[in-house]
Amino acid sequence: MRGLLPEKAGEGEEVVHVLRPSCFACGKVHRWARLVRLPNGRTVGNYSDEYRVYCEAKWVFRKFRSKRTRQLYLQEVANVRGQAGYDKLYNAMLDIWRRKVANDS
Ligand SMILES: [Zn+2]
Repeated sequence: MRGLLPEKAGEGEEVVHVLRPSCFACGKVHRWARLVRLPNGRTVGNYSDEYRVYCEAKWVFRKFRSKRTRQLYLQEVANVRGQAGYDKLYNAMLDIWRRKVANDS
């Protein structure tokens, strides 16, 4: 995925642990667990909630091409997940949007 760079591999057990971050949903370290760098510069696990939200935000922009349909989706997210879930996704989308605007100008 564009904008995501795998973290450089290091040596030692501690580093290996860091390179195989655990899953936010079940706490296990999954086979394909790895670190990814988000466009905001943060390095997170690919099974982290932060990465999940980032992927969903990207998906929303691809799937819903108009502001109106994106707002409908966000409203549904608010209904199902509550305000905190809405805020998380909205902020991730806002971050992607601001970076796009900054890059395009
Ligand atoms: Zn899991």
